[in-house]
Amino acid sequence: MRRSCIEDKSEGLAEGVIEMFSSQEEVFEKEKRYIMQTYKRPRIVLKAGKGSKVTDFAGNEYIDCVAGIAVNAVGYSHPVVVNALREQAGKLMHASNLYYTEPQVNLAEKLSEISGMHKAFFCNSGAESVEAALKLATKMTGKTGFIAAEGSFHGRTLGSLGVTFGTKFRSAFEPLLQKGTKFVRYNDAPAIRNAIDENTAAVILEPIQGETGVIVPSDGYLREVREICTEKGVLLILDEIQTGFGRTGRWFGKEHDGVEPDIMTLAKALGAGFPIGAMLATEGIEFEASEHASTFGGSPLACTAALASIKVIEDEQLVERSRDLGAYFREKVREEGIDSNPVVKEIRGRGLMIAIELTMSCGEIVAKALERRILINCTSDNVIRLVPPLVISKEEIDTVISVLCEVVK
Ligand SMILES: *Cc1c(COP(=O)(O)O)cnc(C)c1O
Repeated sequence: MRRSCIEDKSEGLAEGVIEMFSSQEEVFEKEKRYIMQTYKRPRIVLKAGKGSKVTDFAGNEYIDCVAGIAVNAVGYSHPVVVNALREQAGKLMHASNLYYTEPQVNLAEKLSEISGMHKAFFCNSGAESVEAALKLATKMTGKTGFIAAEGSFHGRTLGSLGVTFGTKFRSAFEPLLQKGTKFVRYNDAPAIRNAIDENTAAVILEPIQGETGVIVPSDGYLREVREICTEKGVLLILDEIQTGFGRTGRWFGKEHDGVEPDIMTLAKALGAGFPIGAMLATEGIEFEASEHASTFGGSPLACTAALASIKVIEDEQLVERSRDLGAYFREKVREEGIDSNPVVKEIRGRGLMIAIELTMSCGEIVAKALERRILINCTSDNVIRLVPPLVISKEEIDTVISVLCEVVK
């Protein structure tokens, strides 16, 4: 059986391209045979999505609190995004950066408007935007040292890995190309002051640490770091790849502390599921001709996806929705007494970036939730991270909470 998501007069033209399997066992077998085994996945094959729900091979429907790792902020198959992509795909998908294209310029202007930053450099993923940020900081300061936080996650390319903390990400690849990063305790501004030396180009931080388990710093931390960086003449890079686009109840995580970084990295929710990354910087901090480039970066199709996504976030007031539903979630979870269960250590987060830290490994709870048709995921072994689409409904949140109650018991 094969089905194209494009249901118009051109249906059928994808025959022989969009081939589907006749059993999910066949998918698992071929995946094992032909794909490097870097991912540990539950044995479900996802086929389709609508709003905050996904459907698997067998037709089971799940409420998705993973959202492609905080990517599908506007939900699956949003008609504004789908239609914009269809229209642009039929016009011009890619042209390279050897030529001007309109969606790229429109997106850069829009990003400047919502972020308060000045100019953009477009790339294709989070790690690439971090690469661009590290290069730009080095070029601007003439220095190569970085300060990052313990628990940081900034990506897995050889450069971004240099500012990523976990040994599980790094150990097989040492010594890294990007050496000599100083890691200091997160949420400890004086530690940053002490770590800055004559070779420091920049401090790089996540406004809320995502992969490490949704670690929310104290109010005032980022502001204090900003003051230290300004005083010492080092750049501040905020990695908003996970916290951007309404996830924390503000457009960007930096707004909770009212700080302006020198450089900001974006990806994940930027393109509503279409791959795109961006590095933004303030006035005067920029690359010049030939200093950096990307073949695919900022393609008309990717930029159209991002423009459509931002339009949906604005029109449907998803930033406010994330703030309100996040508060609702945390209140309801307490009402239901999940936080007083002995296996629950702490519930924390901002907006719809929520963590439930357990006193045990969360594998069993993730598996039980899956059986009850809720997708959740585990970061740092004992932290359940919930980052649902921002379009999730109150009723869906109620279902998620009642299932969590059940499986935690
Ligand atoms: C996911 C993530 C990255 C890496 O993004 P990729 O697109 O996977 O390269 C970097 N920084 C943060 C904060 C992230 O959450």
